[in-house]
Amino acid sequence: MSDAAGPGAGSSTAAAELDARDELAHRRKDFVLDDGTVYLDGNSLGALPRSVPARLAEVVEQEWGRLRIRSWSESGWWSAPERIGDRIAPLVGAGEGQIVVGDSTSVNVFKAVVGAVRIARGEDAEHGVGPSPAARGSGGRDEILVDAATFPTDGYIARSAARMTGATVRAVPVSGMGAAAGANTAAVLVNHVDYRTGELHDLRSLTADVHRAGGRVVWDVCHSAGALPVELDAYEADFAVGCTYKFLNGGPGAPAFLYVRRELQPRFDTPLPGWTSHADPFAMSDGYVPAEGAVRGRVGTPDILSMLALEESLKVWEGVAVSAVRAKSLALTDFFLQQLHAYVPDGRAGRLRLRSLTPEAHERRGSQISLLCETEGHDGTDVAEELMARLHERGIVGDFRRPGVLRFGFTPLYTSFGDADRAAKVLAELVHARGDG
Ligand SMILES: *Cc1c(COP(=O)(O)O)cnc(C)c1O
Repeated sequence: MSDAAGPGAGSSTAAAELDARDELAHRRKDFVLDDGTVYLDGNSLGALPRSVPARLAEVVEQEWGRLRIRSWSESGWWSAPERIGDRIAPLVGAGEGQIVVGDSTSVNVFKAVVGAVRIARGEDAEHGVGPSPAARGSGGRDEILVDAATFPTDGYIARSAARMTGATVRAVPVSGMGAAAGANTAAVLVNHVDYRTGELHDLRSLTADVHRAGGRVVWDVCHSAGALPVELDAYEADFAVGCTYKFLNGGPGAPAFLYVRRELQPRFDTPLPGWTSHADPFAMSDGYVPAEGAVRGRVGTPDILSMLALEESLKVWEGVAVSAVRAKSLALTDFFLQQLHAYVPDGRAGRLRLRSLTPEAHERRGSQISLLCETEGHDGTDVAEELMARLHERGIVGDFRRPGVLRFGFTPLYTSFGDADRAAKVLAELVHARGDG
């Protein structure tokens, strides 16, 4: 391998020094990874924690195989959604009893948005069903604001939730959402970190703005849970939803989580009142009476195998402070960009240009770097797609998103500075070969 440009061997020394000082470096051994691959796609599917296969085998063979139905009580299956919610809670700045695990992010977005609209209008569980006259009419809070750059599922679900609640959806860039929230705003649905650009939004100030306008806010924390401090309680988020298969490493399709702020729980009128959210599910009664607390966010029978795999995965967080994860995430992304700039000065190689879409400012950066590929006079979609395919061949695993975006997710629990340097170096070689060639 010949270095096309830049500090070459010296950079490996810099990476080695950073790795030697990394207080999270020892966590890498808790994951199944191979040294031939630099895995920078943990923002899409987190790596497998090493202890999960044995735990899953135990759940299947012992709890399902031998105890069978007794496991609902004896193995703690029934209470798993709240128990695991409490395990996630400290990672997102939530006190106990406010998070329930289950269903997908998409389904939880639906519960939260409808719940938020009902609360904002005073049509909620405490005030009785049906629109209260005071909340309808001219000042009727019939608008839902949605992050204009949202991950698509959130927007689709919000539109359906709007139709069902007689509201309309307005897509607004997050930078303008605080100002856009007004007397007509029922709910605001926003991504904490933009999945495409990696931009981190200000949860505290936007939540305060929405509250000042009398609306309720639903935060989608899919790309921040497990990557950076979220502070749901301190910043008074109303609802939050997140997935567990990205930075929380819960496994493919692992169940998502729903946070409902404690003060709002009595008013949370779920649009999916399944029997497991009933105050007395085994009474099997005709009338629905919602349970108190986080349980109210449940729908049906929990998917125990995925849920218990997630529970085991969360053990890698024992003794890990989210602040340390955040510090390393910022150091890793800074280092990756610095090395890339050294290897590809100005991000230019002939006709090819790489431009970071991820904000430089730490307070606006998630745990990924998104590079937009542009070629003179053309959009770089094809080039980016091809570059990512080549990167995969060379053992650097990131992903590609339209239009022309190369995404590299940095998971501080298992990504090293050596990984960041290697990824930058290989990317630079490919960029030079393509742009200068
Ligand atoms: C990953 C992601 C989702 C995924 O939704 P699922 O229902 O789990 O498929 C939703 N929203 C955002 C912002 C995401 O990043």
